[in-house]
Amino acid sequence: MSKKTIPSSRQAEIMRWLEEVDTLTIKQLVNKFEVSVMTIHRDLDHLQTGGKVQKVHGGVMLAQIGENREGTAVCSLCNDKISAHTQFVITWEGGEQGTYCCPHCGLLALNGTAKTAVSGLASDFLYGRMINVYQASYIIDSDVQLCCIPSTICFATVTDAKKFQRGFGGQLMTYMTASTHLTTIHRQ
Ligand SMILES: [Zn+2]
Ligand SMILES: [Zn+2]
Repeated sequence: MSKKTIPSSRQAEIMRWLEEVDTLTIKQLVNKFEVSVMTIHRDLDHLQTGGKVQKVHGGVMLAQIGENREGTAVCSLCNDKISAHTQFVITWEGGEQGTYCCPHCGLLALNGTAKTAVSGLASDFLYGRMINVYQASYIIDSDVQLCCIPSTICFATVTDAKKFQRGFGGQLMTYMTASTHLTTIHRQ
């Protein structure tokens, strides 16, 4: 049985929690509030309409991550400036968060540590939505040069990645192949 929290107080609690950790998964919210996935989505829709949060695949993040931090934050790995267009955000177990300039640094960070990641979200290169990095498609070493070499760009769908590849070249990879590829390059 659910605890029957009032939507407005539950939404206030979601906001308090999000301010601490920046991103949450739907699953975390369902478990904490003991309500249905539908109810959580309604809460998040309400908060999103108010501009407080941004819904992402399977979760939610504070709306200000992409805005306030742009231009001021630097990559946790290479210290380059972070652009909202290519940012990559990892939430580690325990709630600590790392923000990276692009999927290049994000994938290296995920692969290069014993820490466990709770979630990984990155900006879809075409639409700017935050997407789950484990399900994203990557184009590595295209003609579009970003902060890091080889340039690594991610897309929500294989179709988008292929369209981009037709115009700008590069190799199409999944999370696993991209991650292995970059780690191998940097080990040399
Ligand atoms: Zn970086
Ligand atoms: Zn970069």
